[in-house]
This record gives sequence, structure tokens and C-alpha cells, in this order.
Amino acid sequence: MLNPIVYAAPVFLLAMALEWGYGLRKGRQYFRAADTISSLSLGITSQLIGVFTLSLNVGIYAWAWAHAALSKLPLDSVWVWIGALLFYDFCYYWLHRLGHEVAILWAAHAVHHSSEEYNLSTALRQTGSGFLLGWLFYLPMAVAGVPPLVFVTVGLIDLLYQFWVHTRAIDRLGWLDRVFVTPSNHRVHHGQNAYCLDRNYGGILILWDRLFGTFAEERQGEPIVYGVLGQLRSWSPLEANLFHYRQIWRDALLADNWADRLSIWFRSPSWRPAAAMRLAPKPAVDLQAFERFDPPLPAGLAAYGLVQLFCLLGASVGLLAVMPQLSVWEQALASAGITLSLMMLSWVMERGRTAMRSECLRLSIQLVLCAALLANGTSDLGALICETLVLASVLGALQLARVHFNLASAPAVPPLNDSA
Ligand SMILES: [Zn+2]
Ligand SMILES: [Zn+2]
Repeated sequence: MLNPIVYAAPVFLLAMALEWGYGLRKGRQYFRAADTISSLSLGITSQLIGVFTLSLNVGIYAWAWAHAALSKLPLDSVWVWIGALLFYDFCYYWLHRLGHEVAILWAAHAVHHSSEEYNLSTALRQTGSGFLLGWLFYLPMAVAGVPPLVFVTVGLIDLLYQFWVHTRAIDRLGWLDRVFVTPSNHRVHHGQNAYCLDRNYGGILILWDRLFGTFAEERQGEPIVYGVLGQLRSWSPLEANLFHYRQIWRDALLADNWADRLSIWFRSPSWRPAAAMRLAPKPAVDLQAFERFDPPLPAGLAAYGLVQLFCLLGASVGLLAVMPQLSVWEQALASAGITLSLMMLSWVMERGRTAMRSECLRLSIQLVLCAALLANGTSDLGALICETLVLASVLGALQLARVHFNLASAPAVPPLNDSA
């Protein structure tokens, strides 16, 4: 079966374009180029990792269903489907809640919260390591007898539903905000303000939060500061995925006893061993003085990053479509190539002109590899992917040269201050 994301990707892009256009008309800036590139890069890497881990997670579920189900529920009952969707949403609530309350789960989930913007691209900012422990929370569905096909389908519905709620373009929606997860109550979930912390975990229904005491309504007159306490300060998809694991690991090493060293992984993400606080104190967060991560980026490089990102996105969607016809090694090499490219592209967004040399190297390698694949012969879609990347390499090199000469002829001070 074709990966559903292949169909969903054009819809996501169209919706983002509409949100961007609406913001432009209203004089509001919902998007920043580097942040959008970072969010989409994380969406792509999460999907590529998902190709290798989904069968493992679904396999565990199917095994539990085959061996531990109390009864096997029928596929042809509409009540099984409706009940399964509710059951999934309930399990999701607890996975999501513990994803904020337990350090090792937060390390995976925090990726989704690492943007300091809030727009439809934030919805696609997904973790690459959620597969490690996430499956545990859905085992009750297998024990209850929900067939694997129903489980996978309702899981996809729950995930896709959450796309539209990541926007500032839709205001409050009245009673809907108190029943369903909506843009208003999910904005609260992404906030750093004191009243927003650890609130509104629901996937489709916000009723779970009202039932378990974690609901908070969006406050008028108190602008939400998006992001997490403890800034990521990077556009790199790799850094975003490793950041919190590394922080926990560092604190565990600083701890002076094994109880702290081991328990830190399962405590609240804000908890730190006494020795770590003493040896590596962190300043208190002051939201009044909060500054978004926004390294200087010349407009030409922002445009370059967006063009390259969309080419890599097209190649990734094509790759997801041809994945079933590839060997595991081909899948792994192609996925690693795209992930590495996204990582290097993030350096351009972070370091501007100083990363142009490594970017030229990336374009050269991309050009040679894709040209070699085309010369050796490949499937129609494979050829289209390679041709897209060859074109991206050539156009990218020309664009980089233009940016380079423009910057070289610009006044020396300040050199890189026309941020996009
Ligand atoms: Zn969350
Ligand atoms: Zn979200």
C-alpha cells in the first residue's frame, strides 16, 4: 500500500501556502524561512525513520493482539471503528501527557515543541525517536482485541486530525474549543507561559483534559510565547532530535550517586540532580526577556534554503512512494542521503555565508550521485527524483554564486543583517 503521507503532503503544502497568504493579507507574519525549513526537515526525517520503525511497532502490536487479546473484535462493525478511535485518542492522551511529565519520553516529544513559531509547518515537526517507547501506550488496545488494521487506521486519523490545529489564523471556536482539540486550545499547549505549561494534551478530544484536570483555556490579552523552556537554538534536525537526550545524559554524568543517575530518566523533565545543579547551574527563564532563536540570514540564502528544501521534500515524497520496491540497503542509503542533506542545509540557515563552502560540496556530491544513478538506469519515479536533485544542484550552485557575489559587493558593515 502506498504511504498515506504521499497523498497528504500536497494537501499540507497547499494549506501552508494558504495560511502564509492569509497572514500576508492581514499583515501578520506567521512564518520565518529558517524555522519552516527546520520544521519540514524534521517532518521528512521523522517519516523516513518511520519507514524502518513502523513495521517494528505495528509488528509488536500485531503480536500482542495475536497472543494476548481477550477477544478478537470484528473488522466489519462500525462500533469497533468508532470505539477504537476513542480508545486510541484516550491512549494518545496518556502517551502525550507522560511525554511531558517523564524525562525520557519528553526527550523524544520535545522535538514537536522546539519551534518558537506556531503555524501549520509546526504540525509536521515530528520526533524521530518516538518509536522507542510510544508503542507501550497502545498495548491495551491490542489486549482489548482491536485488530491491527483498525489500530493503524485510527492512529493515522488521530495524527492527521492534529494538523489543522497548528495555526494562529483561526481564532476561538466557541463550544468546539471545550469538546475538541482546536487551534485555540492547542496554542495553549505549545506555550511557555506559566498558565500554558502541562496543559491540553488531547489529540482529537480535549474532553480528556477536562476529565483529568489538565485543561486550560486560551487567555485574551496574554500573548503566548511559543517554544520550550530551555531553547534548542539550532535549525538542525539531528540536533533537535538529540538535544534533550544529551541534556539528561550530561546531568546523569554530573550526578554524584547512582540513584540520581538512573532515576533522572524517569523523573520530571525539570528535575536535576543536586550535583548537576551545583556544577552546571542554569539561569532562571525570564519570559519578559525572551528572544527567539533568529541568527542573521541574508534574504538570498533564505530563498536558497526554501528552494533546496522543496526539492528535497519532493525527492522524499517520491522516495516514500518507491520505498516498497527498494532493498533495505537502498532504502537506508537514500534516507541517509536526504537526512544528511537536510542537516547540511540547516548549517546554511544557522551560519549563513560561512557554510557556503560545505553547501557547495553537498551540491557537487548530490549532482554526481544522481547523475550516476540516471546513467545506470532506474525506475520512472526514481529517474524523476534524480532529475529533480540534479536540477536542484545546478540551480542551487548558480543561486549560491549570486548570493556570494551580492554579499561580496555589499558594504562590509553590517555584513549579514538583512534577516528573512
Ligand atoms: Zn506536547
Ligand atoms: Zn502540537
